[in-house]
Amino acid sequence: MRRRLLKTQETLSRQALFDELTGIANRRHIFTLLENEISRCRRYGYALSVAYFDIDFFKRINDNFGHHAGDKVLKTVCSVVELGLRKVDMVGRIGGEEFCIILPECELQNANGIIDRLRKSIASIKFDAGLLNGNITASFGVTELKRNDDLTSLIGRADELLYEAKHGGRNCVVGRM
Ligand code: GH3
Ligand code: MG
Ligand code: MG
Repeated sequence: MRRRLLKTQETLSRQALFDELTGIANRRHIFTLLENEISRCRRYGYALSVAYFDIDFFKRINDNFGHHAGDKVLKTVCSVVELGLRKVDMVGRIGGEEFCIILPECELQNANGIIDRLRKSIASIKFDAGLLNGNITASFGVTELKRNDDLTSLIGRADELLYEAKHGGRNCVVGRM
């Protein structure tokens, strides 16, 4: 009985922090992690970069291949992203098919390189024949923490740059201070 109770508590705390579908940090958790990173970077004078990304034309995947195929794409993209990042980096699901990546101790120029490699890895994922006929791509906005930033201004800028990437033709990275 006690073991079952402990198991339930464990499940509940996992559900409070991690997204059920993809297993990565949920919105609340990734923002908590980002708050911590901002404090750490201010304290020690490290650089900190943040990326927002969103899968391109994701609605079409659901419409053409079904919600289950859409879910599989989300899971696969998350695994590829986790594999492509450094151990110290963090990724979370903001909602739907939009994600946030935290790159601690990483300046913008370096972050742009890491994120562009990630963009290429996503674009080259080979999905099972029948699941999709074509590749999945994503658009990215990347920025670095500035002196006067707080969490809201930092993620606001990453989101604006992501929007620029969408309007710039998608499957691209727009990175700026
Ligand atoms: P854009 O390139 O501009 O980002 O276009 P888009 O089609 O990706 O964007 P839009 O916001 O129109 O569509 C997002 C879709 O993501 C709509 C929604 O149903 C789907 N979606 C959100 N969460 C999930 C999920 O957990 N699973 C699945 N299968 N689909 C989801
Ligand atoms: Mg999208
Ligand atoms: Mg979206």
